[in-house]
Amino acid sequence: MYALCDVNSMYAACEKVFDPSIRNRPVVVLTNKDGCICAACGIAKRMGVGKKFVPYFQVKKELEAVGAVIRSSNYELYADLSQRMMDTCARFAPDINVYSIDECFLYYGKHASPPSIGWETLATKIRQTVWREVRLPICVGVGTTPTLAKVANYAAKNVEGFKGVAVLDKQDVRKAVLSQMQVTDVWGIGKRLGIRLNALGIHTAWELANRDPSQIRKAFSIVVENTVRELNGQVRHSWDTVRAAKKEIYSTRSFGQRITDYQQLRSALASHAETVAIKLRKQKSLAGSMTLFATNSPHDDEGYFRRSYFHRFTVPTSDTCNIIKVVEAAMSQLFKSGLRYYKCGVGLIDLHDQGLVQFDMFNPSIDNPQLMACMDTINAKYGRATVHVAAKGFEQKFAMRRAFLSPQYTTKWSDIPKVIC
Ligand SMILES: [Mg+2]
Repeated sequence: MYALCDVNSMYAACEKVFDPSIRNRPVVVLTNKDGCICAACGIAKRMGVGKKFVPYFQVKKELEAVGAVIRSSNYELYADLSQRMMDTCARFAPDINVYSIDECFLYYGKHASPPSIGWETLATKIRQTVWREVRLPICVGVGTTPTLAKVANYAAKNVEGFKGVAVLDKQDVRKAVLSQMQVTDVWGIGKRLGIRLNALGIHTAWELANRDPSQIRKAFSIVVENTVRELNGQVRHSWDTVRAAKKEIYSTRSFGQRITDYQQLRSALASHAETVAIKLRKQKSLAGSMTLFATNSPHDDEGYFRRSYFHRFTVPTSDTCNIIKVVEAAMSQLFKSGLRYYKCGVGLIDLHDQGLVQFDMFNPSIDNPQLMACMDTINAKYGRATVHVAAKGFEQKFAMRRAFLSPQYTTKWSDIPKVIC
C-alpha cells in the first residue's frame, strides 16, 4: 500500500504558516527577481488571479484590486518547511520517499493489511498532524500502486465527497474516481500524449485503465503500458525511482547498509548531485537553488535525526561542477559522527527554462556547457560516470531583488517570530 501526501499550493501555503493574518486572503508568490507569478493559493485561484508564469507588472493592478498579498519566493523557508512536513509524515510509515518539495510517498509493504484504525482514519490522522505541527494543508491519497496513490490524491483534492483524504482500496471507488478523471490528469500523461490518446477514443483515466496493456505498449511506449498496469493495481514503479516532477528534480535513496563514514556519505551525496545535474540538463533547465539532506531512520532507537542544507546559486546553473561543489559545503552541517545514516538525497528547486533565464550583468554564468555536453555524450556512449568531476569554482553571494520577501522564520536567528504575552 502506498500513500501520497501532497501540500496544497505549497509556496503560497508556506507564506501563510507564520503569518495567520493572510490565511484568508489571496496570496501570490513571484519568481526570482519578482518577474513572474510562480504560485497562488486556492483563494487567489478561485478569484481568477494568480495565473502561473504571467509577468507581475501586467497584472499588478488586477492583483491590487482584489487585495492580493504579494510575496517574493522564499526558497529557504519553503525548503525548511518541506523538511518539517516530511519529518512528520515519516513517523506514519515504515518507509518514505521524498518525491518533490511538497510531496512524499509513504510505503506500507506489498500486501499490507489495513492498520487497526483503517486506512482512511490513518490518512486523516497524517493530514491533521501535519496541519497541527507544521500548519501546512495537505491531501493524502492511498492506493495499491504509486500511480493509484497519485489518483487518490487527485480525488482527495478535486473530487466532491472526499475531504482531503481518499482511499482507493475498493473496486467501485476506483472506478468512480477514474471515470471522473481526464486522462491527462493521470500521473505521467502529458498534454501531447493526451491528444494521441484522445484520438484513440481514450478520454478518461478509466478508459485508459481498460485498454490492453500490450497494445498500449505497441502504440505508445513501455512507460504508458506501466501506467495502465499501475492503474489496475500492478506495481511497476520501483520504489526508489518514482519519477520526479519537472518543476523540481530530486534524487534520494536509502542505503543498502547504514553509513557512518564521512567519505561515504559525501560520495553518496555527490552521486545524487551528479544524477540530478544530468536530469536537469536533459530537460534543458537551470536550477536556482539546491537542497540536500541526510537522515537516519525514524524508527531507530537513537531518535530521529534529519539535517538539511540549503544553497542558492548566484546564477542559475546546470553545471555538474557547480552543483557538486555544494556537497562539500553541506557536509559540515549534514554529518554527525557516530550516526548511522539511512538515507540521503539532493533536490534541485527553483528551476528555469534554459532559454528563458535572465542573467545578471555583474555575475556572469560560470557554467561550461561545452564541457557538460561533452561529458554527457561520453557517458551516454560509454556508460554512466565514465568521466566525472572534481569540485571547482567559486561562490559569490549577491543580493537579489526580492522586494516582497517574507522572513526566514525557521532558518535565520533574526527572523524567528517573537511572541509577546
Ligand atoms: Mg502540491
